[in-house]
Amino acid sequence: FLSGRTALITGSTSGIGEGVAKALASRGANIVFNGFGDENEIKKLVDNVQKDYNVQTTFIGGDLTKEKDVQALYDNALSKFPGGIDILVNNAGFQNVSPLENFPLDVFNKMVAVMLTAPFHLTKLCVGNMKQKGWGRIINIASVHGHVASPNKTAYVAIKHGIIGFTKAVAIETAGTGVTCTAMCPGYVETPLFIKQAEDIAKKIGGTYDDGKKQILRVHPTGEPVKVDEVSECVAFLCSQAASQMTGSSLIVDGGWVSH
Ligand code: NAD
Repeated sequence: FLSGRTALITGSTSGIGEGVAKALASRGANIVFNGFGDENEIKKLVDNVQKDYNVQTTFIGGDLTKEKDVQALYDNALSKFPGGIDILVNNAGFQNVSPLENFPLDVFNKMVAVMLTAPFHLTKLCVGNMKQKGWGRIINIASVHGHVASPNKTAYVAIKHGIIGFTKAVAIETAGTGVTCTAMCPGYVETPLFIKQAEDIAKKIGGTYDDGKKQILRVHPTGEPVKVDEVSECVAFLCSQAASQMTGSSLIVDGGWVSH
């Protein structure tokens, strides 16, 4: 149901973004990949998605902490797909765990740049064309940390709450135009972002990776992590006709975390 549409997914060289790219490609969308990683691995991923799902794909790198790279990402995406971006998934992100007193200000600023400024900038660039076409999907990969807090994650929690506010504001500005803006709020998903935290905890407690993982997953009443495709399939749903009236809202997939 997405054939002829083009999706730009930031941070799609790994984890959730990669899963979202595959889920949308499997529905027929052309994909603009972005993110860091090994050049050969990225080429393999981008070529395989093109072949496996019979869609057009391209990779446009760039560091989302840099305003000029964000602009170049959009400009280059448009050169490849002159019809414009129909689906924008603001997904790129990273975590830094540290007590507030020791939290480096430059890391805070970088986190804001990737997870708040870049989504603002890309949405600003994409939304005009979406409105003109009368169809568009802006999906922000927020987090359960957009609704609840955890210790030593002040920057992440503030930013994820911020992106949920941005989602609501964009939804109101675009209401009635055929464009929707929604937030996905996963609990813990076992991607490299999660694995690093589990490894750090394992080191701290002198345990195994599984001990670290178990400790993190205490907040999930299910005791299980969310799988990447349990997030990406929801993103595909948000792109469907059935989700046309879902705008401004958050879709929470968290193993029961916020209900606890
Ligand atoms: P990941 O580390 O697997 O992937 C992150 C992606 O972002 C990578 O492709 C990376 O290259 C890219 N990226 C990071 N900094 C960038 C920059 N400056 N410029 C361009 N690209 C950059 O992590 P993930 O778990 O897949 O996270 C994706 C999103 O999901 C993030 O916004 C994260 O906050 C959110 N999220 C993750 C979890 C989880 O438990 N893994 C839970 C809730 C929300």
